[in-house]
Amino acid sequence: MKGKLIIISAPSGAGKSTIIKYLLDRGINLEFSISCATRAPRSSEKDGVDYYFMSVEEFRKKIKNDEFIEWEEVYKDQLYGTLKSEIDRIWSHGSHVLFDVDVKGGVHLKNIFKNIAISIFIMPPSISELEKRLIARGTDADYKIKMRLEKAAEELMLADSFDNIVGNNNLEEAENEVYRLVTGFLDN
Ligand code: ADP
Ligand code: 5GP
Repeated sequence: MKGKLIIISAPSGAGKSTIIKYLLDRGINLEFSISCATRAPRSSEKDGVDYYFMSVEEFRKKIKNDEFIEWEEVYKDQLYGTLKSEIDRIWSHGSHVLFDVDVKGGVHLKNIFKNIAISIFIMPPSISELEKRLIARGTDADYKIKMRLEKAAEELMLADSFDNIVGNNNLEEAENEVYRLVTGFLDN
């Protein structure tokens, strides 16, 4: 079957992964699209579960072989991309695809899949709150947090390109709103 696609994007620290985990735990017919990434795994992350971790050389070979539906150099020398085979893998299970991609990647995927995709932008209350959340998350070195915050300002300007914008001030409200949008889209 050719299923539908749910695209979730936001600046780093806005709450994407938390909301995605909530959605995946709800028993909706959704499977997470595992991206390729060239950064090192965090301590809690597993290869083939959170990402397919690989070297820049391996990643570049896949670009050359036209294996990606989209890819971005999200941060300097850090490449992230979605394999075409990942979408086929999930659809072959009869599931819909759930993407966690950066803001440019989200706009790109929506342009490719149009009305079989819904794109949702998770809006943080402010950049200073993003900083607080990234520090509290404790997974990134200071220079990485700085890189993420610098990028956030430009990402916020693309929010209007998404089908929906969901504010994540109160997490429970944001989760409920994303759940409502996703199930509404899948039911139609
Ligand atoms: P992203 O995947 O967008 O980088 P995360 O889901 O990892 O963001 O969230 C970043 C941090 O902020 C996590 O530690 C998470 O628990 C926390 N967080 C998420 N939403 C909220 C919220 N509404 N209020 C406070 N903290 C939040
Ligand atoms: P992180 O390093 O925090 O896991 O992810 C950094 C950023 O890369 C996040 O915004 C995440 O959504 C994005 N990202 C993850 N996978 C992909 C992908 O396949 N394509 C694109 N364009 N961005 C991705």
